[in-house]
Amino acid sequence: MAALKRTIVRGGLESLYFTGAHHVLRPLVGGVGAILTLHHVRPPRPGRFQPNRLLEITPQFFSRVVHDLRESGVDLVSLDEMHRRLTEQDLSRRFICLTFDDGYRDTLQTAYPILKKEGAPFAVYVATSFPDRLGELWWLALEEVIARNSRIGLAIDGRNQTFDCATVADKRALYEELYWWLRARPTEAEVRETVRNLAACYCVDIVAFCKDLCMNWQELAELAADPLVTIGAHTVNHPMLAKLPDQAARSEMEMSRSVIEAVLAKRPEHLAFPVGDRTSAGPREFAAAAQLGFKTAVTTQPGMLFPHHGKRLTALPRISLNGEYQRLRYVRVLLSGSATAMWNGFRSDAA
Ligand SMILES: [Zn+2]
Repeated sequence: MAALKRTIVRGGLESLYFTGAHHVLRPLVGGVGAILTLHHVRPPRPGRFQPNRLLEITPQFFSRVVHDLRESGVDLVSLDEMHRRLTEQDLSRRFICLTFDDGYRDTLQTAYPILKKEGAPFAVYVATSFPDRLGELWWLALEEVIARNSRIGLAIDGRNQTFDCATVADKRALYEELYWWLRARPTEAEVRETVRNLAACYCVDIVAFCKDLCMNWQELAELAADPLVTIGAHTVNHPMLAKLPDQAARSEMEMSRSVIEAVLAKRPEHLAFPVGDRTSAGPREFAAAAQLGFKTAVTTQPGMLFPHHGKRLTALPRISLNGEYQRLRYVRVLLSGSATAMWNGFRSDAA
C-alpha cells in the first residue's frame, strides 16, 4: 500500500512538472511563500528496511535545493521575518522559511555548514526531552524491534497476536500496520506504553536513540549562538497533543519553552506541533499556542502560505522535503503550490 501511494504521488508530481501545469497554476495557488519541513540531512544508510526513510534527505540533495532556492530569487527568511511579513501584509516578495524538526545532530553537523555557506537563516524545533536524554523516539524503537526479529508477539486490542517478519517485505508491511495502528490509539499514553513494552521485550533501548541521534544542550547552544538560527519549541515529550487532556497539552507547550529559555537564555517564540497532522493538532492546540503567546506555530499539514495566514499564525501549514521524492523538479512543483492545492481540493486554507 505504501509503495502504491508513493507511486501515485510521484506520478502526480511528474505530470504536474512535465505538462507545465505547475507554471500555469502558480499565480493562482502559489501563495506568498512557504515553510519547508526537514528532519534528517545525512548520507543514505545501507539496508532495505528503512520505513522512516521519508524523514531524511541526502546532503547533496539538500545542497542543491538550497542553491536552487537562492537562484530562483525567493527570499530565504527567518521565522521572525516571516511573522513580520504576514502580520504587516508586506507580501510583495515570495519567501521561504527552512525549518528542522526534533533537533537531530545531523542538523548541526551536515545541514548547518551548507546553510552557513549560503547565509541562509533556519529554525530548529527542539523537543526538550531529547537533549535531556529522556525522550522516546518510539517510531524508531518500533523499526528496530521489527528489523532485529523474524517474529514478534504483541497484544492488540487485548488479544495476544504473533506476527511473522522474516523478510524485508514482511517487515515493511508489519511496520506500516503497527505504526498506523499506534497512531490511531485514542491516547498518547497507550502508544507509549505499547512501544515501551515491546522495546523492553525485545531488548531495544528506547531512550538510546536520543543520545545516538539528537543534539545535546551544548550542541544546541552552539547552533543557538548563530544569528542565522532560531530555536523553536516542539514540546517536552513529543506527544500528539490532541490526544492529551487540556492542561497536559498546554503544559507540554509551556514547559518546553521554559526549559529552552532556562538553558539557552533565549525565550523561544515559535512552536511546531509534534507529528503535526490533523489527529495531532487542531483548533484547541492552535488556540492554546496563541494564548500562550507564541508568535507562530506550524503543523505538518501540506500547504503554501497565503495572505490570510496573517490571521492564523498558530496554524501554519508546511511543505515537507520527503526522502522518498528527492528530485529538484518535485520541489519546484511543490513550491508552485499546485501539488498541495490538488491534495487539498484547491482550498488554500486547508490547514
Ligand atoms: Zn517532531
